[in-house]
Order: sequence, then structure tokens, then C-alpha cells
Amino acid sequence: MTLTERIVEEARRLGADQVGIAPVERFAGAPLRMSPQGLMPGARSVVVMGLHHTDASVELGAEPRPQPEGAYLVQWRVMNPKLDDLSFRLARFLEAQGVRALPIVSSNIWRYTGYKDFKLDFAPDLAHRYAAVAAGLGEIGWNGLFMTADYGPRQRVVSVITDAELAPTPMYDGPPLCDKCMECVRNCPTDAFRKEVRGINEIEIGGRTFRFPDTNKWRCAWAENFGLDLAHEIPEVVNEEVLLTYLEKYGTAGGEEGSCLKFCMTPARRVYDADYCRAPRRKKEPSALSGAELVEGIRAIAEAGGVDALAVGTAGTVEAATGQRPALHLPDAASVVVLGWRSPGAGATRNDANLPRRMDYTAWEVAHYLDVNGHSAICHTRMNDVQSARALGVPKPGYRYMTVLTSAQLPAAQVHAGPQEPPSADDLRAFCLERGADLVGFFSAERFSEFRRAVGDPAPRQAVRDANPGPGPFFPEVVTEGGRLLGPEDWLPGARSVIVLGMRFPDAALDTAKVTPAETIGPFAFAQFETLNLLGDVAFHVVRRLERSGWRATIANDLTGRASKVRSSRGLLPDMRANADAALLAGLAYVGVHGHPITPQHGVRQRFVAIVTDCPLPGDPLLRTQPACARCEHPCVSACPTCALNGHGRTVTLEGVDFDLGAVDGFACDWAKRYCLSGREGPAYMGLDVDVPVPESRTAQAVAEAVCDVDWGAQKRHLNVAEECLRVCPAHRIHREEKSDVR
Ligand code: SF4
Ligand code: SF4
Ligand code: SF4
Repeated sequence: MTLTERIVEEARRLGADQVGIAPVERFAGAPLRMSPQGLMPGARSVVVMGLHHTDASVELGAEPRPQPEGAYLVQWRVMNPKLDDLSFRLARFLEAQGVRALPIVSSNIWRYTGYKDFKLDFAPDLAHRYAAVAAGLGEIGWNGLFMTADYGPRQRVVSVITDAELAPTPMYDGPPLCDKCMECVRNCPTDAFRKEVRGINEIEIGGRTFRFPDTNKWRCAWAENFGLDLAHEIPEVVNEEVLLTYLEKYGTAGGEEGSCLKFCMTPARRVYDADYCRAPRRKKEPSALSGAELVEGIRAIAEAGGVDALAVGTAGTVEAATGQRPALHLPDAASVVVLGWRSPGAGATRNDANLPRRMDYTAWEVAHYLDVNGHSAICHTRMNDVQSARALGVPKPGYRYMTVLTSAQLPAAQVHAGPQEPPSADDLRAFCLERGADLVGFFSAERFSEFRRAVGDPAPRQAVRDANPGPGPFFPEVVTEGGRLLGPEDWLPGARSVIVLGMRFPDAALDTAKVTPAETIGPFAFAQFETLNLLGDVAFHVVRRLERSGWRATIANDLTGRASKVRSSRGLLPDMRANADAALLAGLAYVGVHGHPITPQHGVRQRFVAIVTDCPLPGDPLLRTQPACARCEHPCVSACPTCALNGHGRTVTLEGVDFDLGAVDGFACDWAKRYCLSGREGPAYMGLDVDVPVPESRTAQAVAEAVCDVDWGAQKRHLNVAEECLRVCPAHRIHREEKSDVR
């Protein structure tokens, strides 16, 4: 099998509906700052993957108006995160094949108002829709959306850049996918294809030219991105200032399903059925799978999603038992699928498990599976999930449910996940690795007690929260954080062990940050939140495995509570020091001069999650490797834009081994990475002009005044940082060169 074939196979295995390969030569017309080569010099190919929108979410979502988006919300709640997973996991696969790979986020890391010489509003790192055309998957329609012969505009796509020379997918050369029916133009609620149009784009890709209106993105973003009410009379001129003014005056009214998507379909697949929906429907044929075979496929999806109870029944059964009418949500509903989960972390006092993500994913995966098998299927409707569970005989206290409706005739079924044999420590370690962790370590509650005695409680710190997390001004609120060293017992009474999982991110995500022609931090910001998401997924399954064996378990993103936060397009995240203590105690890492965990395998290039359990597990030996810092010229110290690393490290002794815990001036560090007041740390690369020196007076009031003085504009929604001390840290190279005797 060639590398190209292996990549395509892996992309399909990860769940992609479409895969194509674009050679970089097809990006010749792209601006350097938004090109594969501008993002990662040496790039040779771009792998593009697509996920099909379930037809019913497009056809039946957002009724009777485009806002709010109704069942179409799966676009941002499921499809974008799943595309992120695809991009990130395929990049890790590519790295494992020995080539460089840079995963690009699916959406929502943008420079709203361009960057330096690059004057483009809403500029992502890479335009996936153009990459998808370059990868031979389809064409651009008059609406500016990417279209394919199979799904019309009903897919979202994502890209991974690599230096691997791969076999290109031929350019699409079938019949035109857009026939200029102009339904997108007629239905646009902001009239974005007619008002404020700057001309006609002429985009050349792979020898083909696509022409479509050069719309004003601020107008298009009125509801779609900023959530402003479409009931307003939209001004003749829409720009950043107008949007911020309307937001301040009226607030938001919910997300929008783009009518340019909803009312668009390729002529070959377009069919109207006014009794079903206003939008064109997509012609499709049911696959040859029988109802029983479909139920088997659903069962496999449910099992992979950690579902505890699955029930399948007829729409008539649900209607008769509950009075709910499935046909109101899916006119041809014949069957109902109910998925139930026992909430993870029973008995825990703290829990960072992200059950909603698992529920959203699994329900969508079931609907998507039925859809690609040619049936109508919809999830995230207004059906009452608990009532559906009651109708199909699987209601249990403490369970949470999701409902999927489908036109497929499915035989009734009920599946309950049973108890499992308690895993041995080796089984558990293998389970974690199989599920995607790169590093696994255990430590006991006793070892933590020794750590507590050595470290003591941290001083409480005052932090400033933003009561206006959207775009525009910062509304500061002072809160107190920390003040106590949390331990396993604080998360789970009776805790005996902690499992620590690490996940590396691709080297290129940090190697390219700030220094390539694109001058972007997007891929590293992506890696920061995506590793948390994927680690959370692995941890969820580990908790499930333990709970089904009779143990209790809970998930901790910052076990000891000593970490702070880092600003991201996805909100405030636990910073990259989170779980440094846990990784140290599990024998996976030591703490560098910059206070971040360093492993011999990956340097600083990973994140950690902790699982606290009452299952007794043997502790792993503490790491006895010589820290890279001892053989390093400390570039982290000089690179820090706020001089936060000028103190003396604190040493603790555990089981006879000395560990330096780093010496970080938390106030100065947060000034840059949490409050984004230092341009060099990240905001300057997002196009913001901000550089406020750290004040003499180190108070929350000083932070509040500083953040209020900055004109954040729309970009406040997408503030990201790439921590300078992480970017310059050569620990991975030092360890790889010495090939240290890693256990
Ligand atoms: S709605 Fe019609 S004109 Fe608009 S992009 Fe789709 S096919 Fe083309
Ligand atoms: S840059 Fe050098 S001194 Fe600083 S943490 Fe990394 S290895 Fe240690
Ligand atoms: S470089 Fe950034 S993250 Fe590192 S210590 Fe300085 S401010 Fe903190």
C-alpha cells in the first residue's frame, strides 16, 4: 500500500465521508499568508476531508425562520468538533508515518480584520473550501460554498498540510454543480449577494476559475457569526462598528442556518416536496442494508459512544405512549432510537467529564449513519428525550438521553451495557493506549500525601473574569482562585489512585507558530484545545470502564488546582501547566524552568488529564531522567515577554528524588497568556495592536484597568496565544538527541 493509500484509508477509518489530496501547486493563486507553503514551508500536499451534513438537519432545521438554527445546531456542536478531531488525528497519523503534518482547525480561529499587509476580513489560516476544490472533491457555487456531486453544499471540510509527496486526486471534471438557480440569492436574509457586493471573485484553482460574488463578510456575519437578530432592519452599510453597536444595544438572538446552504442543491439531486420542507431535498436511495442490519450498525456506534442503554421502537409507539408526535420533527419518521448514558463520576465531588460532547457526537453519528444509508434521520430536535426513553422502556434515574428519528423501518431492540470484569493495571494501561493516549502513568493517594506535605497550599490569587465573553469591551469581575492544594480526596471521597494520560500534538503545530510567512498561531491554539478534547474522550471511556467494573472514577483537568488559565478561541482553558503536578507524580514528566511539564518523549509538546479513582493501582516509578534544563541555555527566560521567569525554582523531594517545580511569576505570566495584554505572546498575530507593560502595582484592579483600556473589537471572540516559553523550549530535541533511558 502506498503512503497515499494508507492516508486515505486512515481518513476513512477516522470517519471522513470524503477524502482528497491536493498538491501545493494547485494553491499557486492563494495569498502566501493563507497558503500551505506560507503556513508550513516545505509543504507538498494537503489532505482534505469532508463530513456530510445530515440532510434533515439542513432541510428541517431553522424553521420557520433562519434563526434560531434548531436542529441545524449540530453544525457547530458536532460537525466542527468532529472535523477538528479528524484533522488532528490524521496529522498525528501522518507524523507516525515519518512525515511532517500541520493540522488546521475546522473553523472559528480567524483574523477578523486582516493582518499587516494582508487585507482580508475574517481570514482563516487556510480556506478549506478552496482546498477541497484543489483536492478534486468538487466546485465553488455562486453562494461561495463548496459543492460536491454527492451532497451539493451539504458537507463541511477540513485540511491537513504535509511535506509528504502524495498522489494528487484529479480535479473534479463532472457536470457543473451550480446551475445559477439563484435560490441562494433570493433567500439570503441579509441580501448579502446583492448589497455591498464589491465585485465578482475570480478564484483560480488547479487550472479552473470560479466566479461568485465578493460579499461583505460583516453583512453575512450579522446572524451567522454574531447572532444578531435578523428581525432588525439591517443597515445599508454593515461593518465591525455597526455590528458592535447593535450587539451592545440589542444583544444576540441565537445562531442562524445559512439560507445559502439550505436552499442550495445541485440540479442532478435537487427535488422539491412542499409537504416536507421549504428547501430542496437531496435525492438519495436507501442502501441494501436491512432494518436488522441497520440496528446492528447503530448498536456498534452506541457501544463506541459509551452508551449504557439503547432502545429502538416505532414512531407510533412513542406517540401512543407520550403524545409526542415524531412526524412534527421528521415528517417521514417511522422509527425512534433512544440512547441513554449513566452520568459518569457518580459519587465524585468534582468532575470535568464532558458527557454532552459524547452524547452530541453519538446521536449525530447514528443520524449520519442512517442518512448515508439513504434514510431520513434527525437528532437534536425538540423531542423530549426522557419521554422517548420512557415510551421505549429504558427510563432510569440519573440517566441522560438523546433521541434520533428516522424514516428507516427498524425492528424493535433494547441493549443494555452490562458489568465488566475489573481490569488489571496492565489491562487498564493497554486500554488507555488503545483509546488514543500516548503516555499513561499511575500514582497512589499516599504519594500525593507526601507531595502535599512538601508543597503545602498555594496562596490564593485574585483573577479578573470577563462578564462580556463576546466581542467588544471587557467587563471585569474580580474573583478569588486557588488558596488550597487540591488532591484526589477533593475530587472523589475514598480515592486511592490517580491515572494520568498524556497526548502529544504534532511538532509542526508549535514549530510553525509565529515564524513562518503566515505568522500565525492558529495551529498551536488549535492543538491546545484539541488535546484537551481528545484526552477528555479517552478519559471518559476509562471512567466508563472502571465504573462498569464496580469502581468509582472522575476526571480532573487540573488535579491540584495550581494551574491558571490560557486564553483561546474556545474560551478560557486550563493552561499548559495544568496537571504538571499529576504528570510528575505519575512518573511521566518533570517541571521545566518555565513551570510546564516536560517529558523525555515529547518535551513540552503534550497535555495531560487525570482520572481519580478508588481502584487501587500500583504507582509507577518517579522519573529520574536528567532535566533538559540542565543542558539548555534557558531561552524560555529571555523569550518571556513579561519577564515572568526570573525567580528561583522551588525544589521538593519525593521518595528520595529532588524535583524543581519551576519559578513562575503568576501575575506577569497571566498578564500575557490569560489577559492577552502582551502582543508578542499572541494577540499581535491575531491582528491586534496591544502591548501593555506589566504594572508596578500587581493587583486585580490593575488588570481590570488594563483590559478595559484595550480596544478589542470583534477580535475579542478569537484571542489566542502561543506561549513564548513553550515555543522556544528545545527540551524535545535535547531528549531526542540524548535518547535518554526512558522507562
Ligand atoms: S442556490 Fe443555486 S445559484 Fe446558489 S450556489 Fe446553489 S446551485 Fe448555485
Ligand atoms: S527552554 Fe530550556 S531551561 Fe527553559 S524549560 Fe525548556 S529546557 Fe528548560
Ligand atoms: S512566556 Fe508566556 S507562558 Fe511563559 S512564562 Fe512568559 S508569559 Fe508565562
